[in-house]
Amino acid sequence: RAKSAGGNRFEVADAEADARVITRNGLTTALPTALDRGEFFIEYQPLVHLGDGSVRGAEALVRWLHPQHGVLGPDRFIPLAEHTGLIVPLGRWVLEQSVRQARDWRERHAGPAAAPLRINVNLSPCQLTHPGLVQDTVDILEAAGVAPDALCLEVTESALIGADDDLLKPLRRLAEMGVDIALDDFGTGYSNLANLRRLPVSILKLDRSFTQSMQQFPADPVDLKIVEGIVSLAHSLDLAVTVEGVETAAQAEQLRILGCDTAQGWYYARPGPPERLHDLALADATP
Ligand code: C2E
Ligand code: MG
Ligand code: MG
Ligand code: MG
Repeated sequence: RAKSAGGNRFEVADAEADARVITRNGLTTALPTALDRGEFFIEYQPLVHLGDGSVRGAEALVRWLHPQHGVLGPDRFIPLAEHTGLIVPLGRWVLEQSVRQARDWRERHAGPAAAPLRINVNLSPCQLTHPGLVQDTVDILEAAGVAPDALCLEVTESALIGADDDLLKPLRRLAEMGVDIALDDFGTGYSNLANLRRLPVSILKLDRSFTQSMQQFPADPVDLKIVEGIVSLAHSLDLAVTVEGVETAAQAEQLRILGCDTAQGWYYARPGPPERLHDLALADATP
């Protein structure tokens, strides 16, 4: 043990590490049955068109209402769910709920001015390698009566770095069906830009770190150049650019000027219950 190395600092670090292990174990035992107990719920965060400010859809973000710990964010349990394999049924549940939700929005929000709302769902790397992914997705869309082009699956850039053809095959199949694939957290994974051509993606989601560097107005000229370069490369490859983590009007304005297409962030709305999205979209379609 570190304790035998001497010094109080080690003891403190040790106690903290122990506490983390206990918390993790507490979550690990409760996690496998949490899905059956109905403890997960989904919040939706609007995706807003930067050009006209209209709501175009939402990203589904899963939460766990833990009986002792209260609401836990995905960063607290998704890694555990991946580790234990629960991510496959959990991911399927999120997809099913989200697609049904999208159908509900589309039915209730069918005015002439309204663009049909779309739904973005995050995919973990474990789901990508699971053989049921394509068929499950087809079944879920069919059962809900939702067209594939209403769905966007988000995969992180890091999950696709160095991806071979076997890993890309299910994504290609889905893309051919009309499902959009977005590269999430783009710009953090050191991926080869030329590699983008090989991937069946149609949307880049620019990581929040870029948005943060747009805090000042005008922003750092080098950061501006980098974002400008990414946007122009993306557009030349026919990819749309979504920015995440927009918290201020200044950020939204700079990113709009730089040519980004869609934005998401607290400036527009925090993730919330599905009715909120309906209200926002409806308010926005009413002149
Ligand atoms: P992500 O896909 O990059 O989702 C965006 C995260 O940024 C969300 O965190 C969202 O709440 C947060 N966010 C949105 N706007 C702002 C903003 O203006 N400022 C700041 N500071 N943050 C903002 P959240 O909900 O904690 O989710 C974290 C990550 O967990 C997601 O990152 C995604 O990778 C993962 N995740 C969420 N739901 C699912 C799911 O159903 N399946 C899988 N596999 N992963 C999920
Ligand atoms: Mg995402
Ligand atoms: Mg993201
Ligand atoms: Mg992110």
